[in-house]
Amino acid sequence: MRDDSYHAVIVGGGLVGASLALALARTGRKVALLEAGEPDQQALDQGWDARIYAVSPANRRFLESLAAWPEMARVGTIAAMDVRGDAGGRIQFSARDAGAEALAWIAENRWMLAALWRRLRECDIELICGARASSLATSAKEARLTLEDGRALRAELLVGADGANSWVRGQLGLAASVKPYGQSGVVANFSCEKPHGGVARQWFTGDSVLAWLPMAGNRISMVWSTSDPDALLQLSPEALAERVAAAGGHELGAFATLTPAAAFPLRLIQPEAVAAERVALIGDAAHTVHPLAGQGVNLGFQDAAQLAELLKGEPDCGDWMLLRRYQRQRKEAVMTMQLGCDSLYRLFHARAPGLSWLRNTGLSLTNCLTPLKRQFARQAIGY
Ligand SMILES: Cc1cc2nc3c(=O)[nH]c(=O)nc-3n(C[C@H](O)[C@H](O)[C@H](O)COP(=O)(O)OP(=O)(O)OC[C@H]3O[C@@H](n4cnc5c(N)ncnc54)[C@H](O)[C@@H]3O)c2cc1C
Repeated sequence: MRDDSYHAVIVGGGLVGASLALALARTGRKVALLEAGEPDQQALDQGWDARIYAVSPANRRFLESLAAWPEMARVGTIAAMDVRGDAGGRIQFSARDAGAEALAWIAENRWMLAALWRRLRECDIELICGARASSLATSAKEARLTLEDGRALRAELLVGADGANSWVRGQLGLAASVKPYGQSGVVANFSCEKPHGGVARQWFTGDSVLAWLPMAGNRISMVWSTSDPDALLQLSPEALAERVAAAGGHELGAFATLTPAAAFPLRLIQPEAVAAERVALIGDAAHTVHPLAGQGVNLGFQDAAQLAELLKGEPDCGDWMLLRRYQRQRKEAVMTMQLGCDSLYRLFHARAPGLSWLRNTGLSLTNCLTPLKRQFARQAIGY
């Protein structure tokens, strides 16, 4: 293979692109990873990050197989879920309902990135940081990426892992349907007075969805999907802590703010395709979902895990039949998750007469039906 040729060139070294780069390098592939930012290991290893993920058991296994699972001292366990509707409906289910140790683990974005980048630096991967590409061209034989400094990289497969506003997707001319929810996810971490007991709590309030996710120790992370993020962003740390504790009926006592609140826009993004000649899209470049089920990054890790598995032992990483198989394989899981989150969002935001009664009664009824609850728990785990 020539110096400037690779089995795979990955654009974007966020969680999803970094995990794919590691997975491919571990099977002996020659990989280059282009990241516009400059991941600084020291900065990554410090402080609290308000951006957290509920990582499914399947994705924990994937990250452990890459030796990139963060230290358990920083990881919270979701042992049970307690979901409240906007008019008295309630459903509670636990990992035990599915015969499992945990429904998911709560890990901070920065600590997961740090774990992945530590491994990337130990591997034989060409890391091109602080650089951007200027053009992308593909032919039946290869993809060719030209960087802004004039350097050209050739690859059997080029992967777009460059986030929701993907440059790669734009270069391919792939249209994407983008539906804004008119809401933002506001995130912040708090220490709380009472133990959270490993329970993830969620409230559908009618016009917003509030989640408290259990972090390591006596801490929780909030994800509040709301159409008025500024009302939270402009509060002092003390006022924010009181506002969030009060919204959950002070179930965990008083709160103290650990990280300033940050907000991200909620959009449903569905590109017309996630595979093209010599190119595959993964992670947010390939899809976004409403965060009410906390599944965004889980879908992305599964893109990476399944693409790496498909390419194992194949003579040509960019073979069109393989890329089509990747696209087919991911379509159902992604659509099911997008549709599920979207329907739940609409159900709890609809104002039609009787709907509030129906959705709350539905929640409470399901709570009485053990087999259905077991099914919920298994789905939360990602079986
Ligand atoms: C403030 C905030 C809070 C969030 N909180 C949650 C949450 O609580 N739960 C949840 O499920 N999701 C949350 N999300 C969404 C979640 O972060 C994404 O789903 C996840 O990061 C997707 O990972 P990714 O690797 O696909 O993309 P990204 O994390 O977006 O990574 C893309 C990478 O590509 C790089 N890049 C972009 N363009 C180029 C280019 N042209 N050339 C080279 N490199 C490029 C970027 O620098 C970046 O490192 C949050 C997002 C934000 C912004």
